[in-house]
Amino acid sequence: MATVNIERIERDITAISQFGFNEEDRGVYRQGFSAADMEARAWLREQFEALGMTHEVDGAGNVMGRYGPADRPAIIIASHIDSVPAGGIFDGVLGVIAGLEVVRTMQDNGIVPDFPVEVIATAEEEGRFGGMLGAQALTGHLTLDWLERAADERGNRLADAMSAVGLDYHKALHAYRRPETIKAFLELHVEQGPVLDAEKTTIGIVEGISGVFKWNCRLIGKADHAGTAPMDMRADALMGMVDFAHEIPRIIEEEGTERSRITIGHVECKPGFPHTVPGEVDFTIVGRDLDEEAMRMLSNSCRRVLSSIARRHKLKFEYEEMSWLSPAYCDKDLMNLIETKTKELGYSYKIMPSGAGHDVQFFCGYTKAAMFFVPSVGGISHAPDEWTHWSDCERGAQLLYECVTDLACG
Ligand SMILES: [Zn+2]
Repeated sequence: MATVNIERIERDITAISQFGFNEEDRGVYRQGFSAADMEARAWLREQFEALGMTHEVDGAGNVMGRYGPADRPAIIIASHIDSVPAGGIFDGVLGVIAGLEVVRTMQDNGIVPDFPVEVIATAEEEGRFGGMLGAQALTGHLTLDWLERAADERGNRLADAMSAVGLDYHKALHAYRRPETIKAFLELHVEQGPVLDAEKTTIGIVEGISGVFKWNCRLIGKADHAGTAPMDMRADALMGMVDFAHEIPRIIEEEGTERSRITIGHVECKPGFPHTVPGEVDFTIVGRDLDEEAMRMLSNSCRRVLSSIARRHKLKFEYEEMSWLSPAYCDKDLMNLIETKTKELGYSYKIMPSGAGHDVQFFCGYTKAAMFFVPSVGGISHAPDEWTHWSDCERGAQLLYECVTDLACG
């Protein structure tokens, strides 16, 4: 049996982790279109070159290497190599390096695929500029207007960040790939959550990426002196929000599913003085589910509950829906293939949703696309402590190899 070589995978993940590595906090700083990101992309092209793969950078900055015939639809293995600030070494990188290893293993075993195997490191997946630029470009989810408006937290424009590294943002619109040029899309990724590690399960076959809605909410009461305003004569906006927070488990129990998530991630009291009753509280609600109907039920319920709490506390309730991203479902045939190969390899597995967004979500429904996870130790991710055991990286890459060779040969 052809087997992937974990020493090469470990060597490459370690090599790429040096781009943007910070000795002080041991984190990776490789945000999209930073110097470190571009160095890592150049390094990857050298690896493609060394394997005799044809390679290019498209208008969005996606780095693509191809092994096999030029004129047939490709089996794409993709993930990203940019990171969040102070990120870990496996997020995204594992999927790309495993792709390299799949090609190497094919070559070691004299396998020339009937369909090309294409390894893609997508550009700017982590959303420094508020999207997933590379995957959106490939699947036609970009507009000129968005490209011109997108900016990072510090106000740096995407267009400027791209031109600083020699890319013209107009050309991102040319990166679109017609779906008929793709036979299948596969992404291997670390789970970034605690489930597989806690359940001692090796592979998580992703059934879909949860949809997400985000609200900006505001409860408005009355700012009063914290000493003179009697408790029963206040209109305390924070008390209203706290009451709502307590209702979240019930909302999910009554209207949601076991995959529902509702989070209040940002809260700001106004005026924000210790001796003043909060006259206003601004907060966010982020809701997720794999079922869009459940998302609707959750959002309706949040609105109803907040309105009635506002009445009870003599508050005014305002909200604005900032975004609504529908769930994306992985391809059933590819999921079956992954499951069959997982069983053949004798790995434990479970079928699970992905609560986090990934490149694959833009390919779902656009082409045959699927994804699987390997465990993150303790569920830690987007942090220097992110870790996945090398043995699990090896199993993930082996499973990827089995799936890709099945799709690419014959
Ligand atoms: Zn990632």
